[in-house]
Amino acid sequence: MNEDDLIQAITEDDVIRMAGLLPLLMHADGGVGFGVKGLDGRYRLANPMLERLLGQHPGQLAGKSESELLPANLLAPLLRSDQRILAGAATASEEVDLPDDGHYLWLRLPILGPDRRLRSIASVIFEHSPRAPRQPAAAVQQTLDSLQQANRELQRTVVELEQVASTDKLTGAWNRRRLEECVRSELGRFERYQHPLSLLILDIDFFKAINDRHGHGTGDQVLQSLTRRLQGGLRATDALARWGGEEFVVLCPDTNRATAATLAERLREQIAQASFADVDRLTISIGVAECRAGETWDEWFQRADEALYRAKAAGRNQVQLAPEAALPADAGDYLVANFVQLVWRSAYECGDEAIDRGHRLLFSDANELLAAILSGQAAERVNTMVDRLLTDVLEHFHDEETVFVAAGYPRAEEHIAMHRDLVSQSLKMAAAFRAGTQGVGDVFKFLAHDVITRHLLSEDRKFFDHLRRQRPLGA
Ligand code: GH3
Ligand code: MG
Ligand code: MG
Repeated sequence: MNEDDLIQAITEDDVIRMAGLLPLLMHADGGVGFGVKGLDGRYRLANPMLERLLGQHPGQLAGKSESELLPANLLAPLLRSDQRILAGAATASEEVDLPDDGHYLWLRLPILGPDRRLRSIASVIFEHSPRAPRQPAAAVQQTLDSLQQANRELQRTVVELEQVASTDKLTGAWNRRRLEECVRSELGRFERYQHPLSLLILDIDFFKAINDRHGHGTGDQVLQSLTRRLQGGLRATDALARWGGEEFVVLCPDTNRATAATLAERLREQIAQASFADVDRLTISIGVAECRAGETWDEWFQRADEALYRAKAAGRNQVQLAPEAALPADAGDYLVANFVQLVWRSAYECGDEAIDRGHRLLFSDANELLAAILSGQAAERVNTMVDRLLTDVLEHFHDEETVFVAAGYPRAEEHIAMHRDLVSQSLKMAAAFRAGTQGVGDVFKFLAHDVITRHLLSEDRKFFDHLRRQRPLGA
């Protein structure tokens, strides 16, 4: 390949980007003239050297064309260069004698748009003394050197800016934005290759108490050293992000539910064993979910979040897993036709933390139970889940009653009686199920629909309104 071909190839491959060259040449004061003119021949940009060469005061060249400024004998060679550029050449150059008595090499370069069509024409002009033929080469070399230097600096800046925009200020972990970018690309990979993909949500237990007891500054230090420890416990491919406050998310590519659970357990253990300055004990709770085929980020996150809620409700300092398989399409037609997963909506929240948490927990208990039934798990396991759901219902009803009685809800008596009814029917159902006289579908339907959903959507909402009136917005 000869030099012309090489130049042509480099230009076409876009290796030299005009964008990098522009600022450099605009501020070049090493005797290099530089300017850009539109296809109408009028200058858009010019550095001081070019303005001087064309006899203009600073800032005067913009909008003017060479034909207004140069004598006809000079215009002819420049026009030739323009025509070569218009015909598609990668460069064109002419030697010219300018009015300041200097002898110059005038280079023309095309500036292409993203569609690769010619947008404007750049000029680079440097002195070309026949007595010192090496000088232009040296000038070009110098320009290239500083261009490279500028490019390296630019690249460093880009890396730094990218870093700043994608990490959390306090801890240096990825921020939510960066994680979501990664999630997008991992979900794309997941769709294409079905590699397993799991998610951990970690939340510090009783962090508010740490702030209250030791001060916010210590709280901040704990967040920092926790981040370091978590990072130390992760594999290089796992991505740790601070999701908000004292909540972190770990995205684990190529990791199934069981491996993610092991990883989560290791992190939990590691943190529980570690010592944090000033704070005698620090634990975290973790929810784990493996991404299901066809699932959106929100649905997947929600399942991990429900698992985290269960970990909190069950006493903290523990790992809980979201249910394993999606509902198999062919599992018992009767069940599939009649039940769907309960989906938590923010509209179900009343603003009281204990009550909302309880309700979410019941939703997730019911979904786990349903998944166990549909995936044909052993009766033993289903029994355990029914028991857990009942225990959680009892506990939740009790919490709820405490809250609305304290809030002076006028229909408290009525609501408590309803709870009592639901509980006694649930216990009967569960006993019948165990005795084999009641199908699991009926048990689930009663617990999930009558006890949890219908009661929440009709009866509980009545006292929600009362609680909201008691506690004006923003309180
Ligand atoms: P739980 O076990 O239920 O998660 O209890 P918790 O106290 O950790 O949870 P809660 O959501 O009630 O409180 C979280 C606290 O985290 C409240 C808030 O002041 C604190 N927090 C959030 N962000 C920061 C931060 O950047 N620095 C410090 N020091 N504290 C923070
Ligand atoms: Mg917490
Ligand atoms: Mg209730």
